[in-house]
Amino acid sequence: MCSPVGPLSIELGEITFYKYRCNDCGREYKSTGKQHSICPDCKSENVEKV
Ligand SMILES: [Zn+2]
Repeated sequence: MCSPVGPLSIELGEITFYKYRCNDCGREYKSTGKQHSICPDCKSENVEKV
């Protein structure tokens, strides 16, 4: 009795981190970049990807 192996493929999601810099306090941090990022320190949305 053989158990058929279905087309199960587990895809390992690759998480890419982007580097951001806050234009308000100058902090650099990493984020996954899925959504608009905010600074972890001052919660400012005035950040840019570097
Ligand atoms: Zn900041």
